[in-house]
Amino acid sequence: MSKLTDSYNVKAATKFIRNGRAPSTPMDVEKIFGENTFGLEAMKSRLPKGVFKSLLATIEKGRPIDPTIADAVAMAMKEWATERGVTHYTHWFQPLTGSTAEKHDSFITPNKGGGAVAEFSGKDLIQGEPDASSFPSGGVRATFEARGYTAWDPTSPAFIIENDKGSYLAIPTAFASWTGEALDYKIPLLRSMEAIDRAARRVLSLFDVKDVQKVYSTVGAEQEYFLIDEEYFYRRPDLVTTGRTLVGTKPPKGQELEDHYFGSINDRILSCMLDTERELYRLGVPVKTRHNEVAPSQYEIAPIFENSNLAADHQQLTMIVLQRTARKYGLVCLLHEKPFAGINGSGKHNNWSMSTDTGMNLLDPGHNPHDNLQFLFFCTAVVRAVFKHQDLLRIAVATAGNDHRLGANEAPPAILSVFLGEQLRDVFEQIEAGAAKTSKQGGLLGLGSPVLPELPRHAGDRNRTSPFAFTGNKFEFRAVGSNQSISFSNTVLNVAVADVLDELADKLEAKLKGKKKNKKSFETAVGEVIQSAMRVSKAILFEGDNYSEEWHKEAESRGLLNLRTTLDALDHLLDEKNVKLFEREGVLKERELHSRYEIWVEQYFKTINIEAEMTETITRTMVLPAAIRYLRDLANTAEAGDDIDISFDGVKATVAEVNEMINALRSAVDTLVKENIGMGGDEVHDKATHMRDEVIPAMRAAREAADKLERAVPHDLWPLPTYQEILFVK
Ligand code: ADP
Ligand code: MG
Repeated sequence: MSKLTDSYNVKAATKFIRNGRAPSTPMDVEKIFGENTFGLEAMKSRLPKGVFKSLLATIEKGRPIDPTIADAVAMAMKEWATERGVTHYTHWFQPLTGSTAEKHDSFITPNKGGGAVAEFSGKDLIQGEPDASSFPSGGVRATFEARGYTAWDPTSPAFIIENDKGSYLAIPTAFASWTGEALDYKIPLLRSMEAIDRAARRVLSLFDVKDVQKVYSTVGAEQEYFLIDEEYFYRRPDLVTTGRTLVGTKPPKGQELEDHYFGSINDRILSCMLDTERELYRLGVPVKTRHNEVAPSQYEIAPIFENSNLAADHQQLTMIVLQRTARKYGLVCLLHEKPFAGINGSGKHNNWSMSTDTGMNLLDPGHNPHDNLQFLFFCTAVVRAVFKHQDLLRIAVATAGNDHRLGANEAPPAILSVFLGEQLRDVFEQIEAGAAKTSKQGGLLGLGSPVLPELPRHAGDRNRTSPFAFTGNKFEFRAVGSNQSISFSNTVLNVAVADVLDELADKLEAKLKGKKKNKKSFETAVGEVIQSAMRVSKAILFEGDNYSEEWHKEAESRGLLNLRTTLDALDHLLDEKNVKLFEREGVLKERELHSRYEIWVEQYFKTINIEAEMTETITRTMVLPAAIRYLRDLANTAEAGDDIDISFDGVKATVAEVNEMINALRSAVDTLVKENIGMGGDEVHDKATHMRDEVIPAMRAAREAADKLERAVPHDLWPLPTYQEILFVK
């Protein structure tokens, strides 16, 4: 039986039809949006007026939460939830594993009559006490020091996760140790939002903007992912265990013809997307865009931006719902940064800006950026922040999985640079030369046919290779990994920009000191601050091709950091500059930063260690046996030739060839096993170094040898689904 008509291929390709359902009722987005969240509408209709007002002040203005309202909120929340079939609640938090955590408790409380009632108190809402000892703490907590707390985050609405048998209520919370250290990704993000609020309002008051009470960073994260048939997934132990294929040769056709990107969406995939979106709408996640991505079987989903904390929670939810929904369609959603070698991996484009409670986007240049000093000031701060804190931005996206994209020849590189676009570059060049007098305008785009409309054209082109690009009224940080929480990237962005806003505000205040404040003197001072900040940061600006070899050389001559691997990046986390920065901005104490370093180095080491073990298992128990069976067949055939006195030359040559490939794989696997057991020392850092320098190359060598065999061994003997099948049978 040829592999391509193998029973499981047929099953994979036909499953959707067998699962096909009648068209569902049309989706009424306005009606269903947020119906599974205890959002403002539900609160308003169910809470006493005073309680609602107090809660609203916390949610919208960041006012301290009033603990006396907790009982009333809890009661309303419980009623709302139980009406919707909810039996349990959980404090939903984001430990340093990078994913989310939940422990379910039922509402049930026995009563005197031998029955039970559903109860949920203010205390249950506000505080949880999960055992903290089994979550990564990076030495902050020893195993015996188990106490941890979760604390309700009222600014992110509670939501319902449905199940046919009974649903549960998830309450977004922060997670800290008994000693008060943040053990999660939410606390530092919330603290960093305070930092950006304070620093941005300081700048705004210098610009005489008086009505702003709150500034918050905004995020819209575009998520790339793969959908593959579950049949193949479960036949690939490497995908199941590590999220990526550890062996597997590129199919004859991958993404070369560029025919997948924005292609018409396969029906089964579209159904899955629609269902995913429906669930996300019901959870109040404002997803907006979907399309086929560059690699075969790769897709993207993007939301409308929200404040960073909410966006980070919603991003986690998006990943969860993507994965849960895929299973309903016999699919599996792969979120790993590099599930398949030789074709594009997946990332997350983290669009970032700052907004005021009055609705102003601080990175909106308007029509004439040269004339918009306030915009130029904030924009300069971001450019300078990326320059000054390149290391931190690189660290924020450093994971073993993301190294396959950033360190390799794929988008974007490990070197940070900022793309401003033609219009802004020109404005800043004018400022550097003295003063900015004009802004290049886009004009109209004529398409050469009278029936087509003339299109307004942007003042500058885009650059898809830039890791950090200005895209009209926000910056797009493109290096985040597809599997990562976006919380720390945004914590770093907030802290870095807050730091520079303060630096520039100090300079501006110093210039204005003692001078009579009028329009002219103010504008001159602002111009000077921008000019000098740009001058010392402009090495970070790059408009060309970030993938090219020349850029790597040029970046080096400019003194920009090129931290190729996660470990190279992490080695900078505890630099004095960074410890001071996080302390000063009140985002992470030294101990908290230190614990993150420990955790991330350990995660890097463990990830590679597990991958290496899995490579060993697959090559030894699947690939080698298949190759040896083939060799046996060949040898038997050759012998049969001798019996009838015909020299099977082609067979004999193949015997020799396959034999050699088997020898090569054996020796590569032996080396891999030796290195992986070796560990390289007792300290986590030594182990991580050993993984980077010895185990990864050994793994690569084993893979190369296995992939050679894949191209030689008959299909019907090959034990693993191939890329050809996984990526193209839908
Ligand atoms: P493009 O990548 O083509 O610019 P969009 O304009 O649709 O695409 O934006 C991509 C993402 O950027 C979306 O998630 C969008 O909500 C988000 N975005 C737009 N404006 C902002 C902003 N001010 N702050 C943060 N994210 C934003
Ligand atoms: Mg984009």
